[in-house]
Amino acid sequence: MSPILSLRYNGRVKAWDVAIAGGGIIGVSLARELRKYGASVLIVERGEPGREASHAAAGMLAWCDPALPLSLQALARASGGIYPQFVHEIEDESGMRVDLRQEGTIVCAEQTAETAAEWRALTTGELMRLEPQLAYSGQATYWTPEGSVDPRALIAASVKAAKHRGVDFASGAAVNEVEIEGGQAVAIKTAKTRYAAGSVVNCCGAWAGQIAPLSFPTRPIKGQMLCLVTAQHGLLKHVVRAPEVYAVPRSDGRVLIGSTLEETGFDKRVDTETIQRLHQAAADLVPELGEARMLETWAGLRPGTPDALPLLGATSLASYFVAAGHYRDGILLAPITARIMARVVRGTRSDSDLCAFSSSRF
Ligand SMILES: Cc1cc2nc3c(=O)[nH]c(=O)nc-3n(C[C@H](O)[C@H](O)[C@H](O)COP(=O)(O)OP(=O)(O)OC[C@H]3O[C@@H](n4cnc5c(N)ncnc54)[C@H](O)[C@@H]3O)c2cc1C
Repeated sequence: MSPILSLRYNGRVKAWDVAIAGGGIIGVSLARELRKYGASVLIVERGEPGREASHAAAGMLAWCDPALPLSLQALARASGGIYPQFVHEIEDESGMRVDLRQEGTIVCAEQTAETAAEWRALTTGELMRLEPQLAYSGQATYWTPEGSVDPRALIAASVKAAKHRGVDFASGAAVNEVEIEGGQAVAIKTAKTRYAAGSVVNCCGAWAGQIAPLSFPTRPIKGQMLCLVTAQHGLLKHVVRAPEVYAVPRSDGRVLIGSTLEETGFDKRVDTETIQRLHQAAADLVPELGEARMLETWAGLRPGTPDALPLLGATSLASYFVAAGHYRDGILLAPITARIMARVVRGTRSDSDLCAFSSSRF
């Protein structure tokens, strides 16, 4: 077996203040945040940064969705509140646009469905004015202030902004172990390289449980999606969310349709029948979408946990932290996760108020 090599610079072993395993939206946002405080940060990414769940997401910012677990609602609201500033900084630092849309969401719900204080019930006339293309089906409809972002543009811009801030990236080799010395994390290791660091954060999404020596109970929840282009540009203004399907418009005319929740392991295959079913459900909601051209289909793996809450904070090993398991809302939760975790890693915030998200709950 080849020996683990440490990186050497001018004969000295290079070490970082923080090494992050996983370069999805959670790892990259945290790295950028830590750089604001002057910490040296390295992201070690198995593949290419931002090509897993963060690439597959629809990008809804459902910060006041009553379907969120109760203990996540305050965090979701806080993240929704700082999103415009988060996007502004990333666009500014990267020179790229991420298509933050703030027109809001139209929710079509069962008459008995739970609602939130921010939701406004719509009359048929109001609904027709807001989204004339929507086929009214007799369900209760609400306008909510939840917007959307293009996650692919967001992660591309975030990586550029992180590099601009001086975050180091090592891509193409998986972290398989966090090295522990005297009960404390001191490095992360790929098959060939050892990266020494004062602190380590596991941001490996659905794969967070695969890095020795700790095993977190994250698991993949597959979601299939399709992307349509319609003849009529700007067909939809709002995100439209219904029990069977959702439609998320982009400013360039694309409309994303999603999604499924499937427990099929680490399998990202797309199934034609499922895509057709989603397309039909979208056409039932907005008939024009039935005629739209299909540009792309894909599947991604949401990082699920047994109680649908993320893992945030310290672990049972000193200097080893985790920020994973953001399930259906990691795009929304990225800014608040970055802010909270940067303080936890720097030791300026106790993680006692994160007990609902502690990895010790399992
Ligand atoms: C179909 C679908 C729709 C979604 N829609 C929304 C939405 O509308 N709104 C929303 O807020 N969220 C949505 N999500 C959820 C959101 O995408 C995730 O919660 C979020 O992307 C999680 O980010 P992450 O960085 O933790 O994970 P990921 O983006 O999966 O990143 C983890 C990274 O770790 C890397 N990695 C894994 N193992 C290792 C290793 N051993 N060593 C090094 N690197 C490793 C991976 O390659 C990957 O790049 C959706 C997800 C899916 C799949």
